[in-house]
Amino acid sequence: MNTSSSRTTITTPQRKNPSMCQHQPPCPTSDSADREAARLVAHHPEQGWSLLCNGVLLFEDTGELLPDGQIIAPHRPILAMTAA
Ligand SMILES: [Zn+2]
Repeated sequence: MNTSSSRTTITTPQRKNPSMCQHQPPCPTSDSADREAARLVAHHPEQGWSLLCNGVLLFEDTGELLPDGQIIAPHRPILAMTAA
């Protein structure tokens, strides 16, 4: 047996930006302050979340889940109802 073809090709894809944004102007990245301004790519109001183009999961209570697993606490009250 001739095992001359023992070559190891290790491919390490270096993706700095996980999103494949095709928009113009490009959407803000998930680590920018205005990440919520990114376009919606999926919207599931019945489940209470939306997926932004930059990979951010935006929940209806304004909480966010970033692509790197970071969780942003809700920063806007849902319904400030003062029942009379
Ligand atoms: Zn985009």
